[in-house]
Amino acid sequence: MTTQLRGLAVLLRDQRALYAIGAAFVAIGLVATLSYPMLVKRLIDEGVLAGHMSRVNELALLLLGLLAAEGVATVVRDYYFNLAAERLTMRLRQSVFDHLLSQEIGFFDNRSVGELTTRLWDDVTVIGRVVGEPLGAAMRFALISALGMALLVYTSPALTLVLMLAVPPIAVVAWVLGGRVKTLSASTQQAYAEAGIVAEESLGGIRTVRAFSQEPAARARYREKLTAAVETARRRILANSARGGVSFVVGEAAALFGLWAGANLILQGRLTSGAVISFVLYGLLVARGLRRASEFWGEAVRGLGATQWIFEMLAREPRMAVGGGMRLARVEGAVTLDGVRFRYPTRPDADALAGIDLHVGPGEIVALVGRSGAGKSTILNLLLRFYDPDEGRISIDGHDARILDPAWLRSQIGVVLQEPVLFSGTIADNIRFGLAERSDAEVAAAAEVACAREFIERFPAGFATPIGTRGVQLSGGQRQRLAIARAVLRRPRILILDEATNALDSESEAFVHQALLALDYGPTTFIVAHRLSTVINIGRVLVLDRGQIIHSGRHDELLRTSPVYRQLIETQLAVR
Ligand code: ADP
Repeated sequence: MTTQLRGLAVLLRDQRALYAIGAAFVAIGLVATLSYPMLVKRLIDEGVLAGHMSRVNELALLLLGLLAAEGVATVVRDYYFNLAAERLTMRLRQSVFDHLLSQEIGFFDNRSVGELTTRLWDDVTVIGRVVGEPLGAAMRFALISALGMALLVYTSPALTLVLMLAVPPIAVVAWVLGGRVKTLSASTQQAYAEAGIVAEESLGGIRTVRAFSQEPAARARYREKLTAAVETARRRILANSARGGVSFVVGEAAALFGLWAGANLILQGRLTSGAVISFVLYGLLVARGLRRASEFWGEAVRGLGATQWIFEMLAREPRMAVGGGMRLARVEGAVTLDGVRFRYPTRPDADALAGIDLHVGPGEIVALVGRSGAGKSTILNLLLRFYDPDEGRISIDGHDARILDPAWLRSQIGVVLQEPVLFSGTIADNIRFGLAERSDAEVAAAAEVACAREFIERFPAGFATPIGTRGVQLSGGQRQRLAIARAVLRRPRILILDEATNALDSESEAFVHQALLALDYGPTTFIVAHRLSTVINIGRVLVLDRGQIIHSGRHDELLRTSPVYRQLIETQLAVR
């Protein structure tokens, strides 16, 4: 709670200029509001009761002027408060997003993208709703209550005492129900995030859902999650309304009681009727002020409940930094693994790698083969430093990878992962992917190596063809070829291909492989191979089984010496 408040305070301070202007207009509006009852009193006592028509007119005109001033002050106040809130939520959303981007890969293993995006959107919005207009209004009402109270005492101390009776009940109710509202709103946010997961999974996997005719099931799961969310929301709303209702009744009842007691005082001749009317008006202002301030407190508490996740997220230090560390002037591309053991953080009971020793010289090409789950992709994940080994070490040109700057290291590695991801933008943007300075000729040459140039140039817009929703739909093989072009354009010293060509037909696959193996500058290359045609030409094939390298050698040697390899050839590596 305190971290949340402190976090919120920092955000508010960032927007202090806008809030200061807003607050100034809160003050202006306040002067107008609090002057009314005073002027009404004088209008009655000095004008009506004294029988001065001109005084009545004067004071009525003054009241009209105050009304106009208050109107202007309200508009300006709301404008600045809402603008501040909008900017504040933008900053907050941006920093949560930045923070998510900098988390280590293991963080994303047990979180769904649907949950993260829903929270990034919803939780931040809830804060935004509190710190805009409502914050301005709350400030106003809190001040009205405080100043109104002073004016009440000034007008009639005895009556004020009567009115004060209403304060403790309101405070207690706000306190008790407020706590409940806060817990319930945190669970509501969580419930909506879970619904977000379902939506994201079903829409993200729409083809699978459709192919298995699982729309009704998806619908039912979504409805179930939403219903659960609405149920927690309902309880929150109930608590919130109860608080509003109780403070309304208690507050207004006190004002009525004040009216009754005031009437008595007039009849006893101890107060003027103008004073009583002005007192009742102040009393209503104070009651409304307290009520609105407590409503705001409810909203604020609800907002704070929703911020719990956000500030926890912002406080989370990534286990592995994205950047920072040593950079080598030149990379030869020698890669060594010494006794590397690794378990995924989400599966701490199973060895993904159970002791790997491997040296790959600069420019060498090795293929990794093995049954699914043998650990091939895991080796590549560790080379990319998506994770660090639990034991042993990985070194690049003799330097422990842990002391190297991870971002720099990754910039030396070109990678094509199993399922290439393309982003919105043109084909050329996707091949460049951050390397904006590369010329069109370089992009085209990279596409050539990946056997992608031909199909790209067949599109009317060529390399400028937009990808995704508005643009072309690409086949799996075409996406892979773009991903290969993306990796090649970077001319990385180390090239990683994880089943990078499995969606290509065997003819283009052979072409791509030839081109990759013949890259003029000879990068160290790791290929997760799945076809016999790939491994036949490779100098060293490593056979993995249950997280260990059990054999290594050329294809024909392995056929003789490794039963596991023979079996793989028969059953898993596609012979084409
Ligand atoms: P391969 O690439 O050879 O098919 P992997 O390296 O992907 O095998 O997997 C090795 C082992 O690690 C498997 O048992 C797999 O279930 C597990 N594994 C892979 N990725 C993850 C992950 N992100 N979280 C937890 N376990 C994983």
